[in-house]
Amino acid sequence: MSTSPNRRTFCGAAAAALGLVALPRRVAAATDAPASTPAAGASPARPVATPGPTPPPKSHTKPFVYPFLIGSVEAWSISDGHMLFNDRLDKMRPPEQREAMQADLVARGERVDGIPLYVNVLVLRRGREVILCDGGFGVRTNPNIGWVADGLREIGIRREEVTQTILSHGHADHIGGFVHAGKPMFPNAALRVMKAEVDFWRGPSPDFSRSFRRDNIPAMIRDVRAALEVLQPNLQLHRDGDQPLGDLVTFQAAPGHTDGHCTLLLRDGRDSLVHLMDVAHHHQLMFTDPSWYIEFDHVPEQAVATRRRLFAELSERRTRTYGFHLPWPGLGRILPQGAGYRWEAERWSWGS
Ligand SMILES: [Zn+2]
Repeated sequence: MSTSPNRRTFCGAAAAALGLVALPRRVAAATDAPASTPAAGASPARPVATPGPTPPPKSHTKPFVYPFLIGSVEAWSISDGHMLFNDRLDKMRPPEQREAMQADLVARGERVDGIPLYVNVLVLRRGREVILCDGGFGVRTNPNIGWVADGLREIGIRREEVTQTILSHGHADHIGGFVHAGKPMFPNAALRVMKAEVDFWRGPSPDFSRSFRRDNIPAMIRDVRAALEVLQPNLQLHRDGDQPLGDLVTFQAAPGHTDGHCTLLLRDGRDSLVHLMDVAHHHQLMFTDPSWYIEFDHVPEQAVATRRRLFAELSERRTRTYGFHLPWPGLGRILPQGAGYRWEAERWSWGS
């Protein structure tokens, strides 16, 4: 049979492709090394490997920017960073349910030493319109957070080119990235937010009487008011159902986490995505039981009711969904499971 040379050639090429040719080469090198007579007692000379040139870095590597499409609209999920609340489940409530939460995490092999908090910022581009959905933390000393500016650079979007910014609510991980050094980070962008949210923070005494937040609330109120002042010239106030950019963006009231907290329905043609914002802060706990909540909610009962309503709707329709605090890149679907739900993260795709 004359097939064996061909087969050998094929196998050799395949082995080379898989990097499996190192051994014969090493043997040959040892055999071909110039003969030398080692001095008595010295170890025999060993061939010195000369490294080849270092391959240049791939210019398309953007490890914290995930591109995808909504219809024909370009979209990117930028990781603004990650945190770990390392006080076990102490930020989760109600406290009498923590044992059940722990058991639920253990049953699915999830970490129980703390709550990981992902921060995902969604960017959309349609023609000249560049839209940022929340701003992330902004410039911080903590190197693990505040990556949005780097992400935009990686995409090739200058901050002057951003035309629209949308704010789901006033907490620091959402508004922080819209202000830098006392100036708007995106000077040419409208800042769109629910009127109820601005009214809450600017009211005579924002009501935290039903919240279990333990951080410095007066300082938080002061910081949010200061940021809103900086952004005031570009502020545009909205109500439930508003569509400021045709049907590309629809504001949806989702109160409870804060008074004017909103989710977004993003649509192009028949394709759509619901941005959950802060309806879920963990990829398992709030899905297993939507009545489990994080202490950052301003009005927990309302936040739970909002989550129940949305999860029922989104799971029924298998709607493609995006989570600000779900594991990056944050795309997936909410599916029914037992008495609750589960988050099914979408498989990564590199567009090929
Ligand atoms: Zn948040």
